Amino acid sequence: MENRDVHAQAIKFLREVVAPRAEEIDQSIDAMRETLAEMCERGFMALKRPTAYGGPDMPETEFRQFQVASARVSGAFAFLQTQHQSAVALISRSDNESLKAEYLPKMANGERLVGIGFSQLRRPGEPTMRATEVEGGYVLDGHVPWCTGFGFYGEFLVGAQLPDGRALFAIVPLVSGPGVRVSEPMKLAAMETAQTVTIDFEGFRVGPEKVVFIRERGWIQNNDRINIALQGQFAVGCALAGLDVLAANRERRPSAFMDATYEALRKEVEEAQRQLEAYVGVTSEESTPARLAIRVRAIDVMQRCAWAAVTSSSGAANYLSHPAQRVLREALVFTVSAQTSAVMEGTLRQLTCESARD
Ligand SMILES: Cc1cc2nc3c(=O)[nH]c(=O)nc-3n(C[C@H](O)[C@H](O)[C@H](O)COP(=O)(O)OP(=O)(O)OC[C@H]3O[C@@H](n4cnc5c(N)ncnc54)[C@H](O)[C@@H]3O)c2cc1C
Repeated sequence: MENRDVHAQAIKFLREVVAPRAEEIDQSIDAMRETLAEMCERGFMALKRPTAYGGPDMPETEFRQFQVASARVSGAFAFLQTQHQSAVALISRSDNESLKAEYLPKMANGERLVGIGFSQLRRPGEPTMRATEVEGGYVLDGHVPWCTGFGFYGEFLVGAQLPDGRALFAIVPLVSGPGVRVSEPMKLAAMETAQTVTIDFEGFRVGPEKVVFIRERGWIQNNDRINIALQGQFAVGCALAGLDVLAANRERRPSAFMDATYEALRKEVEEAQRQLEAYVGVTSEESTPARLAIRVRAIDVMQRCAWAAVTSSSGAANYLSHPAQRVLREALVFTVSAQTSAVMEGTLRQLTCESARD
């Protein structure tokens, strides 16, 4: 398949296969599993994989469009598949050639599925996950507070801090075994079917063959700064999902105020999307405040679109099976995922009356 076709086909898959099952995927692990299996079957699980390993090496702009479209049809499905797509992108940047040769060719069709668990590196103070160098590899000890994909992904890419502050990234099992204890899947208000767990390591040995790379001290803070706007794509996708609900409601109950609200929010979402697209590939330090503002803006408009979906759906928005409250719950996750202190600050400021008067 040509690269251009992969983008079009992947979007078509989201619209034709994922969208009609969004409510089911939100509530049923089996529906999630079946949909993920269909995505694997179509070979769309490694969209950023380099050509040398089978491609399709999707350009960044197209990949971000895919992420927007995925969050628009199902936040839970978007969240689950993106963990693996991130693992693909990270493994592709490894210098460990044998690991790349072992994993990458099998990552598009689901033969090898890998989650990620490194948000703990963001936490200041004593490291939650530690790596110690020993003869012939590393020993892992500590706690991973979040890892999505249990039961779908057999392994995950863990981030653990070395004594000198650098971070070791290695592929480890996402199943309990000697030295690894995986929790029960969390009971969550949103995206529970993506099956998020915690993992505890005690004296778990990792050989060099599973090491993806070691990153310098402060890597995650720098990476968050570089990628500050990236998660905004999910917020924009979720905002569009809210608008889709509002659009369906105005069809059902035509009114001038629904039309006006829809048009006003649509313009804001389009502007947020345009700004995100304008900054794809821009990573300079000077642009960080602008990119942070774009992320905060995307979160803000997403929250308002989700509430517009709820408000325009009336009491039915409270049904567990109603798209409006699914979108509202998904907005919760896209408000906090990959949250940094700066994103939290910006989001909270945006919620105050003072910011509304600006
Ligand atoms: C449903 C769900 C699934 C998830 N799945 C995954 C996954 O698969 N893989 C993964 O890696 N992550 C996952 N996450 C983690 C997610 O990205 C985190 O929510 C995000 O990194 C924020 O971290 P936290 O919630 O642990 O909060 P915190 O630890 O409170 O961190 C939030 C921010 O506050 C800062 N902070 C924390 N404590 C302090 C302090 N004492 N002083 C100053 N600043 C501080 C941190 O540096 C960070 O920037 C998931 C989250 C959710 C909700």
